[in-house]
Amino acid sequence: MPTTVTITGTGCPIPSAHRSGPGVLVQTNDVALQFDAGRGTTQRLASCELWPTDLDAFFATHHHSDHLVGFADLLLTRWVMDRTDSISDLPVIVPEGPAEKFVNHVLDAWLDDIAVRKSHSKRSTEPGTEIFPFAATNNLEEVWSRGDTKVSACRVRHEPVFPAVGYRIESSDGVVAITGDTLVCDEVITLATGADVLVYEAMRFEEIQTLPEKRQFILDYHADTRLIGTQVQEIGIKTLILTHLIPEPCSQEDEQAFIDDIREGGFTGELIVANDLDSVTLENNLT
Ligand SMILES: [Zn+2]
Ligand SMILES: [Zn+2]
Repeated sequence: MPTTVTITGTGCPIPSAHRSGPGVLVQTNDVALQFDAGRGTTQRLASCELWPTDLDAFFATHHHSDHLVGFADLLLTRWVMDRTDSISDLPVIVPEGPAEKFVNHVLDAWLDDIAVRKSHSKRSTEPGTEIFPFAATNNLEEVWSRGDTKVSACRVRHEPVFPAVGYRIESSDGVVAITGDTLVCDEVITLATGADVLVYEAMRFEEIQTLPEKRQFILDYHADTRLIGTQVQEIGIKTLILTHLIPEPCSQEDEQAFIDDIREGGFTGELIVANDLDSVTLENNLT
């Protein structure tokens, strides 16, 4: 299949009837890769007719709960749904530090459940991860590859959460970049310059600045829509997908406000204010 980017969740920590927690699925000819697993990720993958057993690798951007709260579900379901009793550990690519620690312990609370399922169904396997931690730096560094598909990571700016990374996926069809959670910063330029598709977290600062002061701390570490529009025009992105939408757009007018901010910032390319399961396909953009 041509390289396809599907947003498995466009939400954030605030529960939504219509938006799962953050996550992006990238599928190429060779592989299916999941980036983050917020609330509801496993169900959204089912909507794509993909079982967790079909995933080739999982990538974490940072250790905030909204990005990882669905990870145990993904791992456990992957094992439960494996009818061959031959499942291997899921490769997990994660920045060294708290996210790595989380992945190491994610199944601890489920050990009794795993034990009773294993003995009852007389299985020899257990759910597991093969963890590939990497040191996050301000430079793009390759963290995974298979066939024509290569994934690199670069630090982004989400302090006080440290480290937080974005990912760049290169295939024969083109380049996809995923910011994870970040301020608009120079590191995104490193990550995404020349990308065909950029999945960018987005927050309307103008709205958040009207909230009570106690709730304005989130301005410290998210990406302002107007600044996104300016930056993305400068670095030459073909298609911009906004996700992790704050505040949640609940009407066409709300969506239009995101669009207006981005256009005011200066971006003239294709723009998608994503809903869950929106997807775009790259077809030989590099040729
Ligand atoms: Zn988040
Ligand atoms: Zn975060």
